[in-house]
Amino acid sequence: RVRPLTCTETRRGDQRVVHSLGDGTVHVSAARHNATFGFSAVFDAGASQETVFEGSGMRQLVELAIDGFSCTVFAFGQTGSGKTYTLMGPLTQTQNQLAAPGLLGLMQRSFACLLEQSRSCGSDLVLSASYLEIYNEQVRDLLSPGPPCALPLRWSKTHGFYVENQLSVDFESLETIANLLQQGSQRRRTSAHALNRHSSRSHALLTIHIRSRAHHLPMWLPQPSTYPSKQGTLCFVDLAGSERVKETGSSGELSVEANNINRSLLALGHCISLLAKPRGKRTHIPYRDSKLTRLLARSLGGSGITLMIACISPSSRCLSETLSTLHYASRARRVTTRP
Ligand code: ADP
Ligand code: MG
Repeated sequence: RVRPLTCTETRRGDQRVVHSLGDGTVHVSAARHNATFGFSAVFDAGASQETVFEGSGMRQLVELAIDGFSCTVFAFGQTGSGKTYTLMGPLTQTQNQLAAPGLLGLMQRSFACLLEQSRSCGSDLVLSASYLEIYNEQVRDLLSPGPPCALPLRWSKTHGFYVENQLSVDFESLETIANLLQQGSQRRRTSAHALNRHSSRSHALLTIHIRSRAHHLPMWLPQPSTYPSKQGTLCFVDLAGSERVKETGSSGELSVEANNINRSLLALGHCISLLAKPRGKRTHIPYRDSKLTRLLARSLGGSGITLMIACISPSSRCLSETLSTLHYASRARRVTTRP
């Protein structure tokens, strides 16, 4: 998704170097770079939030999650490229101020779609949500009250990787889940001194757990003593900014942060590169290299269905980050999973 030029970029006269050519391709043209990339869908600066929801396959993903699949949506790209805007819409300055309905992001649209479906199938769905962030290689719960504390990440044969003691909150209405999202995001932002620095340095994962009781069999058929149920998940991942943090000048706390982000995004990129190889030629996938890859192991390589949204700025000043995001996305596109 290419975002529009911001006011600042327009004011200082930045050139647009990214153009969507329609037919799922995006073209980058600058003095020494000329490259075309193809994707399942490309959204230009003029694309509305609604268009992105309908055109990205997000609605189908919600339906698959209801059907019991593990579904994941990632937004990635450099800081300021539109990841949070795509997932949640424009952030409002105060907590009580809501974004205009037309600007709501993929998350709120998915919640609405999910609850609509839930109502139409006779409320046979049990819904709950958890919201975590990974900051400096520590997993924190964004829903539990009190100061954020680090939670242990464990592995079990039956569950794979999981976070111990994470809070999972049941919800039945759009209002409740929208509030959980709002509160969690607020905690993510206000735990830093600088307003935007923290959120762009942390990965945030909101997971919806969907349990559906199987429909009752018609009366004339033999009734089983227990009804089998399906369990699906829908996970939204807002990744930390992918820009290279300059090694020089960052010291102490900042360089620890930078190292941790680079490490986890590199680990993610590495897993994706290995997963993109043909199945017969694959070696061991190093999910254990970072907390992020451990938490995403199932969505990335196993039985999950994953939508990746690469967010880029059209500005000439972002050229090298844009190219790196597009290359990353091209590799990710070759990964196949077995849902
Ligand atoms: P990120 O989460 O990648 O750091 P943001 O989502 O915060 O970036 O976006 C940076 C700025 O650009 C914000 O002011 C946001 O409102 C604006 N923006 C991003 N994408 C769009 C878009 N598609 N249309 C209009 N404004 C956008
Ligand atoms: Mg953001």
